[in-house]
Amino acid sequence: MRHVFLLPLLLSFLVAPVLQARTLVHAGSLIDGVSNQAHGNKTIIIEGDRITGVEDGFVSAGAGDELIDLSGHTVMPGLMDMHTHLWNQMSKKSYSDKFFMNQTDYALRATVYAKRTLMAGFTTVRDLGDDGVVVVSLRNAINKGWVEGPRIYTAGKSLATTGGHADPTNGVNIKLKGDPGPKEGVVNGPDDAAKAVRQRYKDGADLIKLTATGGVLSLAKSGQNPQFSVEELEAIVKTANDYELTVAVHAHGAEGMLRAVKAGVTSIEHGTYMTDEVMREMKKRGTYYVPTILAGDFVAEKAKDETYFPPIVRPKAAKIGPVIQGTFAKAYAAGVNIAFGTDSGVSEHGDNAQEFSLMVAGGMPPMEAIQSATMEGAKLLRIDDELGSVEKGKIADLVAVEGDPLANIKLLEDIKFVMKAGVVFKAAK
Ligand SMILES: [Zn+2]
Repeated sequence: MRHVFLLPLLLSFLVAPVLQARTLVHAGSLIDGVSNQAHGNKTIIIEGDRITGVEDGFVSAGAGDELIDLSGHTVMPGLMDMHTHLWNQMSKKSYSDKFFMNQTDYALRATVYAKRTLMAGFTTVRDLGDDGVVVVSLRNAINKGWVEGPRIYTAGKSLATTGGHADPTNGVNIKLKGDPGPKEGVVNGPDDAAKAVRQRYKDGADLIKLTATGGVLSLAKSGQNPQFSVEELEAIVKTANDYELTVAVHAHGAEGMLRAVKAGVTSIEHGTYMTDEVMREMKKRGTYYVPTILAGDFVAEKAKDETYFPPIVRPKAAKIGPVIQGTFAKAYAAGVNIAFGTDSGVSEHGDNAQEFSLMVAGGMPPMEAIQSATMEGAKLLRIDDELGSVEKGKIADLVAVEGDPLANIKLLEDIKFVMKAGVVFKAAK
């Protein structure tokens, strides 16, 4: 008989998780990442790190519920930037920093950039290369709650060929050059290429990045020559597929880009001199284009200052930088898959949302620009079952602006509210 008295107590334990406090977000307007129009007056219900419901109208809070009033705001899914470099930020000193800073210095500074990125509304980023494992450590620190920042998917060290863009010893005094190999991300031949991919896997990278052509900021002459052979590219893609790693490819020139697309890579970054043939091949395979117009804009602007870049970099910045917006316009009109990416670290971390107005100026409607930074980013990362939209069952990443970003895209540069995985990092005032 005594046990009967224990029954209510027992039940209360069983029932407790069901009565877990909910967070209700009243959204005056909701852009959910999938519909092509905004919805007025919605309530987003959050339990733990998940969205457990999206209801019409403003549902009133029950006992124990927390209410977040964004009835004067437009709520959107957390933004996603598919091309960042959190370990660094371009300045006149960037080229000499590496002689005076250790990886630990870079990592500590990266925590500042990570927080700025999150506060700008970017709750997820794909980070495309540092000089080793700086952003692997940063990602882990954020996941452990040691520091605040976006959810990170990182490539670790970007793969290059000897003397290519992302060879860390380009332009360095010959006595200091050494001969970096696949461990350091420099490959020559298919065997090296496979080893370099396996090394990134071992390092804890989430994906692979390679530099298929010359680049603007490296201390080398060409910004667009092809730098990987077909055999090397195929070895990288084949090995990456074995480890379920996607492959992001920096490319300015058409030949290197075409080789990479045909080898089956996942995304083309910058894509400056993209031809009709490249676009056709990308559409055929569903290859994503990540334009980084902001980076082109930034370097073209800095190239006007003759003291900003080293002499070998400046002409490349002046020539390549201004072309990207036009390429974006053509690729959008051609129907290539486009995901939002900025190359932040070239421009300043936290300025990521400036890319939106450049996309809109390039002919993309504001709603599609927002989707490119939400659902399309999630698809590129292959996490669209978990993130990228405000829908029941998804992880609760939300941001909000005051007013209508579809009428004024620049409002995205002033994010008022940030929630990542159900936790508020920036509260609306
Ligand atoms: Zn980059």
